[in-house]
Amino acid sequence: MQLYNSLSRQKEPFTTVEPNKVKMYTCGPTVYHFAHIGNLRTYIMEDVLDKYLRFSGNDVLRIMNITDVGHLTSDGDTGDDKMLKGAKREHKTVMEIAKYYTDAFFSDCKKLNIKTPEVVQPATGCIPEFIDAVQKLLEKGYAYEAGGNVYFDTSKLEQYYRFHDFKEEDLEDGVREGVEKDDNKRNKADFVLWFTKSKFDDQELKWESPWGLGYPGWHIECSCISMKYAGEYLDLHCGGIDNMFPHHTNEIAQSESLIGHEWCRHWFHVHHLNDETGKMSKSKGEFLTVSLLEEKGFDPLAYRFFCLQSHYRKSLVFSWDNMKNAQTAYNKLVAKIRTLLNEQDAVDETKKAELLKAFTEAMDNDLNTAQAVTVLYDILKADTTAATRLACIEELDKVLSLDLIGHAKALADAEQDAAQEIPAEVLALVEQRKEARKAKDFAKADALRDEIAALGWQIRETRQGTEITKM
Ligand code: AMP
Ligand code: ZN
Repeated sequence: MQLYNSLSRQKEPFTTVEPNKVKMYTCGPTVYHFAHIGNLRTYIMEDVLDKYLRFSGNDVLRIMNITDVGHLTSDGDTGDDKMLKGAKREHKTVMEIAKYYTDAFFSDCKKLNIKTPEVVQPATGCIPEFIDAVQKLLEKGYAYEAGGNVYFDTSKLEQYYRFHDFKEEDLEDGVREGVEKDDNKRNKADFVLWFTKSKFDDQELKWESPWGLGYPGWHIECSCISMKYAGEYLDLHCGGIDNMFPHHTNEIAQSESLIGHEWCRHWFHVHHLNDETGKMSKSKGEFLTVSLLEEKGFDPLAYRFFCLQSHYRKSLVFSWDNMKNAQTAYNKLVAKIRTLLNEQDAVDETKKAELLKAFTEAMDNDLNTAQAVTVLYDILKADTTAATRLACIEELDKVLSLDLIGHAKALADAEQDAAQEIPAEVLALVEQRKEARKAKDFAKADALRDEIAALGWQIRETRQGTEITKM
């Protein structure tokens, strides 16, 4: 498979340390609020990648962190503490907020057919590992204590910047939301590994550490959680494009300083979903969530379909019109598949392999889901048996997870139920027949049965009463 690697900045063959075994890490959500559908675009595309790697014959170990501590509103070390802000907003404790929004996140994922990773690890469950890593970085001379905090010293690295050619002088000081720049930092790009001198007096979660009572910086969690479950070598690391800097740059800096060799060979970044005003946000305007989609009558899987229609390396604009179009297209697909369900023909294996080849070609080309959707339409139009087309769709849907056949079957069932609705005329005749039987006028009852049959309905006396079915 050819996959774009943000580290080499080119498409290249995707390879693993151990053949056919993929160790994959996903930066998980910060659980201070609901995920917006932009966040979920990233998780949908990562889910497709995970499933396609399995489809191609790999074993995948997928690891995801849950950020429940340490993430400030800027991805650097400035701004408010996101979890604390969430807790104050809702008059709850940080751990209550974390539990509530972690559950909400997985409930959204379920609706979008996003599989839960094999390992899901909240950051607060790994504090000893973080302390150990910070201690090792200090011992190795990659970190320093200043003003009570521990910082990573980016000047110790030959190459700190990875995904962008940033220069130190281009970086902002991180002055944002009234927060002063941090004079403890020796270099502008240095970042906090462990906070003890928190600017938040009311910081709720604190742990004892060799540097005093405090809490971890945001970046250290992903390095440590990844190594806890995947060891020193990771094959694939994923996230949204905003994670590249400083988060992933810092993850690489501290991980490789710890282990002394390359950590992760392949980096996969999903570009953003934007609304029509530009950036998607949890604080301003309409907060776009899966629940809001549902409230407006959309099927979450139609949103998944919307995401699959475009390539993960292009930014995508969300509008309600675009969403309506996606829902209409999705309904049409399901209706078309529904027509294949009643055919009683056989699978043409040669044709099936040929059609699936077009799918794997699309996906092997940097996970081109837009092309894969085109292949889906081609399959529906293909000159072959219904069973072949259905078999192909079943295979594709192992990766695309649009529940196309499930929805088509549900549609068929709904049609059948509608067809089963008994007309009032028939019900009236059934009533008359009941009366006739009560009056022991069996000749009339038989005549009524024939009349009902002439309208296409059959009646049968059972212990539960009179059963009426379509003939
Ligand atoms: P957060 O919960 O803020 O840590 O973000 C969770 C994931 O969503 C991260 O991988 C982000 O990179 C990603 N993300 C944030 N905003 C967007 C967006 N507008 N479109 C796509 N992905 C996003
Ligand atoms: Zn991360």
